[in-house]
Amino acid sequence: MTPEIVDTRTPDPKKFISGATGDWEVIIGLEVHAQVSSKAKLFSAASAEYGGEPNDHVSMIDAAMPGMLPVINEFCVEQAVRTGLGLKAKINNYSVFDRKNYFYPDLPQGYQISQFKQPIVGEGIVTINTTPEESVEIGIERLHLEQDAGKSIHDLHPSMSFVDLNRSGVALMEIVSKPDLRSSDEAKAYVSKLRTIMRYLGTCDGNMEQGSMRADVNVSVRRPGGEFGTRCEIKNVNSIRFMAQAIEYEARRQIDILEDGGTIDQETRLFDAKKGETRSMRSKEEAHDYRYFPDPDLLPLQFDQAFVDAIASSLPELPDEKKARLMDEFSLSAYDAEVLIAEPKSARFFEAVAKGRDGKLAANWVINELFGRLNKQGTDINDSPVSADQLGGILDLLTEKTISGKIAKELFEIVWQEGGDPKKIVEDRGMKQVTDTGAIEAAVDEVIAANPEKAEQVKGKPGMIGWFVGQVMKASGGKANPQAVNEMLRKKLGVE
Ligand code: ADP
Ligand code: MG
Repeated sequence: MTPEIVDTRTPDPKKFISGATGDWEVIIGLEVHAQVSSKAKLFSAASAEYGGEPNDHVSMIDAAMPGMLPVINEFCVEQAVRTGLGLKAKINNYSVFDRKNYFYPDLPQGYQISQFKQPIVGEGIVTINTTPEESVEIGIERLHLEQDAGKSIHDLHPSMSFVDLNRSGVALMEIVSKPDLRSSDEAKAYVSKLRTIMRYLGTCDGNMEQGSMRADVNVSVRRPGGEFGTRCEIKNVNSIRFMAQAIEYEARRQIDILEDGGTIDQETRLFDAKKGETRSMRSKEEAHDYRYFPDPDLLPLQFDQAFVDAIASSLPELPDEKKARLMDEFSLSAYDAEVLIAEPKSARFFEAVAKGRDGKLAANWVINELFGRLNKQGTDINDSPVSADQLGGILDLLTEKTISGKIAKELFEIVWQEGGDPKKIVEDRGMKQVTDTGAIEAAVDEVIAANPEKAEQVKGKPGMIGWFVGQVMKASGGKANPQAVNEMLRKKLGVE
């Protein structure tokens, strides 16, 4: 059901791809399959959990035994509605399940239960950032519920194939975008944003490496602002990086064909990650090839507005709103706020650290010190060796000037390695900043006495004061208060 396309974007030369005969614009629309976070499958009570021994999570319904009858999982319906609300979309209080008929060994029913003409969710919007400050709205065409298929395994035996039905019947949300995306970067931002939104909502875990999110990528090219071209659909791309590669390759392939005077055949293609190229799989199938018809085993899905309203009133704060609030409440830059909200757990950690403290300082430390360190070690923030409380404690010591910035970093390292209460560590190990003027004065005098030539030069070149500060700080083991050192040096050296 390809709806009429409305172009909502103004062509942006920054996104054009240049060919031998001039500029081209790439047009992208995505169909994202997101696995619903749910204990049980869409129409059976079998476990929807990832993994398990082959064919461990299979009920009679998932194996399509004769006489089986699907029963809708209400929780999956709620999850789809919740997702629709998170996409600011129209919720259809009346929707219908259809059979999409095709044969494949991993599809024992001989059809997939999906939604065709009347999906559970209609048009919506996802806002993506093209830069931290600039955003653009990407249209959502629809979201419908459908079953996943099983998996054929061809590489375990020389002459036989195996079928694992664990995934058969697991609930998927297919989220179809309008062809509003104009570059591989935008497509990446869109999929990341969808994933962030669903993680906030708790409706899909977004783990692409476990297949929880896969995308069919539709790509066409046209002259900037011109007529839409014929699209090709690249099936089942399972990582954001591959998606970007597939788009780049496919756009270039189409441009080359068109510039050679050829035409694009509408077809379904596959992305070969090893070769980094797309190749033809089959010519495009049409809706009528599937002989869709309403599933006679299932009643239409009908709910009253109160059901939707109850879900709407339980939605958490969503990423866009959180970003705006963090920028407002803690005076964060758009970039910092963007980094912090990308994962609900990161935002939670930051807010715990920032509460009652300087937000910018907290953001600096969370992003640069903590995230930096976690990334380097490949550690999840939930397993962070430094808790929000501990980091907050370090920041308090820094703000009260009990420790200098340099010592704060050392303290962070100690807490990371050994744990413990930052305040106690500072006391036990004598890490307090020296603000005692007597001690600072002695160190300053010593450094000046040891460097008479430089002490002379600094009078004509006040910038050199930094060198002296460094020496005194070094002599004090980083514990002297840099401000006090600076003042003392200026006084003694006669520098304004
Ligand atoms: P189908 O079932 O034929 O794939 P859908 O409506 O499910 O049709 O999905 C069509 C997808 O292709 C949508 O994401 C839509 O935005 C995208 N699309 C439609 N026309 C174009 C085009 N000319 N170029 C790129 N993408 C397009
Ligand atoms: Mg499609």
